[in-house]
Amino acid sequence: MPQPLTDPPVRLKVEHLTRAFGGSPVVNDVSLEVAPGQVTCLLGPSGCGKSTTLRMIAGVERPDSGRIAIDGRIVCEGSLFLPPEARSVGLMFQDFALFPHLTVAQNVAFGLRGPREEKMRRVDDLLERVNLSGYGPKHPHQLSGGEQQRVALARALAPRPRVMLMDEPFSGLDNRLRDGIRDTTLEILKEEGAAVLLVTHEPDEALRMGDEIALMRAGRIVQRGSPYNVYNAPVDRAAAAFFSDVN
Ligand code: ADP
Ligand code: MG
Repeated sequence: MPQPLTDPPVRLKVEHLTRAFGGSPVVNDVSLEVAPGQVTCLLGPSGCGKSTTLRMIAGVERPDSGRIAIDGRIVCEGSLFLPPEARSVGLMFQDFALFPHLTVAQNVAFGLRGPREEKMRRVDDLLERVNLSGYGPKHPHQLSGGEQQRVALARALAPRPRVMLMDEPFSGLDNRLRDGIRDTTLEILKEEGAAVLLVTHEPDEALRMGDEIALMRAGRIVQRGSPYNVYNAPVDRAAAAFFSDVN
């Protein structure tokens, strides 16, 4: 018997998001969707409005207009504006440091509620998966930059967010470490099944990590597609030039 047609599941749905500062829009009619287990890379040059977009989805910046829904539930529209903790979003920002006075285990457990035993199991499991078993009692200053980044990932994922928002999470790391951490991160994100929106200004990072790329310029999304399509069929000369440094 033929199955009824259903829409593919959408975890994060953003519609017509707009935000201006001092009269000029920095995010201009941005729409996108991300499915569970999918990584969408919001890619574009510095200043094009990527972080502002992400901050509105996170609930730390108010849009002028537009709508955001997570799992079909509207979290932002008109005067409705749920705070970050009511949106089930995990955040990993460039300057979103670990709490220096807490241990690694306490950092990862920070957003967790429930029985202690259960929390400890979740913390141990995540530390193992980011290859930091046994690091629980250490303090952040005893860790390298790459190790701190992996703890930040474990902390963000611990409460099982429905949507994971990452703003240039690897840009502070040196090149030597970056590829390895990108791969580890991607593997864990896929296992956890969150819908991921990853902001980057680096084409090679988007090509490497994205299931989909949303190319942004001057506040607008100018192209959306698979990495293959965006790379091989750029929408215009500027898009082609943007990818031309990738080898
Ligand atoms: P990106 O993350 O792509 O580099 P941003 O979203 O951070 O871009 O910024 C887009 C533009 O909006 C920039 O020109 C920036 O200076 C401006 N902008 C961002 N936040 C504010 C703010 N709170 N007040 C005024 N201008 C801002
Ligand atoms: Mg930014």
